[in-house]
Amino acid sequence: MYTSFFDVFSIGIGPSSSHTMGPMRAAARFVRRLREDGVLTRVHSLKVNLYGSLALTGEGHGTPSAVVYGLLGEDAETIDLSRNFIWELHESDCLLLDGMHPIDFNMERDISLDREITLPLHANGMRFRAWSAEGELLADEVYYSIGGGAVRRADEMGEEQIEEQVVPYTFRSCAELVDICRREKMSIAAVVRCNEGTLRPVPVVNSRVKFVHQTMQQSIDRGIATSGILPGGLKLSRRAPLIYKRLEEKFHSNDVDALTIIDWINLWAFAVAEENAAGGRVVTAPTMGSAGVIPAVMRYYDRYGRKESPYSRESGAEVFLLTASAICSLYRANASISGAEVGCQGEVGVACSMAAAGLAAAMGGTMEQIENAAEIAMEHNLGLTCDPVCGLVQVPCIERNAIGAVKAVNAARLALRGDGSHYVSLDSVIATMDETGRALAAGYRETALAGLARNALTC
Ligand code: SF4
Repeated sequence: MYTSFFDVFSIGIGPSSSHTMGPMRAAARFVRRLREDGVLTRVHSLKVNLYGSLALTGEGHGTPSAVVYGLLGEDAETIDLSRNFIWELHESDCLLLDGMHPIDFNMERDISLDREITLPLHANGMRFRAWSAEGELLADEVYYSIGGGAVRRADEMGEEQIEEQVVPYTFRSCAELVDICRREKMSIAAVVRCNEGTLRPVPVVNSRVKFVHQTMQQSIDRGIATSGILPGGLKLSRRAPLIYKRLEEKFHSNDVDALTIIDWINLWAFAVAEENAAGGRVVTAPTMGSAGVIPAVMRYYDRYGRKESPYSRESGAEVFLLTASAICSLYRANASISGAEVGCQGEVGVACSMAAAGLAAAMGGTMEQIENAAEIAMEHNLGLTCDPVCGLVQVPCIERNAIGAVKAVNAARLALRGDGSHYVSLDSVIATMDETGRALAAGYRETALAGLARNALTC
């Protein structure tokens, strides 16, 4: 099963791909269905039920607001973040369905957080219903947010229902991917580029890769330049601006510290993770909770790694992202990138694995070294739980992005210092990650009921 680059790296608003972007897309899809069925203008009232993890951590993840954005017909990539849609709704109790049809809507009354109920097919379930003025049920649909912002309607759940992308090189395992690369004498990045080129015109693919890179780097710069308190009950200050100030002072005072590189990587990851926590625009990489890892490692590559890389700045960044995309495809086919299914292994763990592989590839690593880098990175994230304090994507998430980025650099360096031979294959570590994640008690899978969420209670 091949996951397209366009699905791996989507652009949206934080703080969570599964709890913000997914519900927003589900709501927009429901509205589209109403429009296509010709009943949109007959809608008089609408109810949304959020279940399982969406109900338990939805408030901290901004899920109800995301649902409203979707009902308004807004798109996560283009929504105007300077406009306060929620305040406008609170003031008027009037929602413009699909941006054009007014209905009476009150968030507290019409969006229900059903914490006691988990739907059978996934922890992130939601139901949308719409009625006419006469009380006729116009539509009733259940959706699941399955990770990375992807959404499926209930009848689309299950592997046999997933539409296969028709590409020249399909691979389900890393072993298959390596076989393709050897047989065709192509790099992993070239395989992905070739697949993408059959799904869309090549110029569209090229400009998307550039745009994703640009958006990631912009989110670092915005995060460094923005101070203040993060939203939610924790009242955490954004730390990136202060870290940056201290690093600059250190640089100008010629203070020599061999580990300063780690401070910079931490800074870049913090900047993006804080942007995400504040509801800013970031790239799912592969999720929003883990959005800081890849941009931070890419900037490390640009600042420090490129000197030893065989690629130019631009092509190195492309090789990085295309390789990382292939690695994500393996996790999506054989495990999960949803914290609600497999814990933080699926978010920061997968981001770390993707970043390690991307960096190893951009540094000119062999196929074996790239696999080794991805494998090391996940092997040392096995068992990582998801226990966000107060259900906010802040503690431990922001620091975890920084730790994940530094770990990715270390994994790539370890792999590049070897000859690529390794004992544990990437396929077996992915299988282990999936098995471990599904064995985690529900409290450790994005429910905010156990772990730090229980023991470090401050909300
Ligand atoms: S702990 Fe990890 S998986 Fe859970 S919300 Fe935070 S970043 Fe996402």
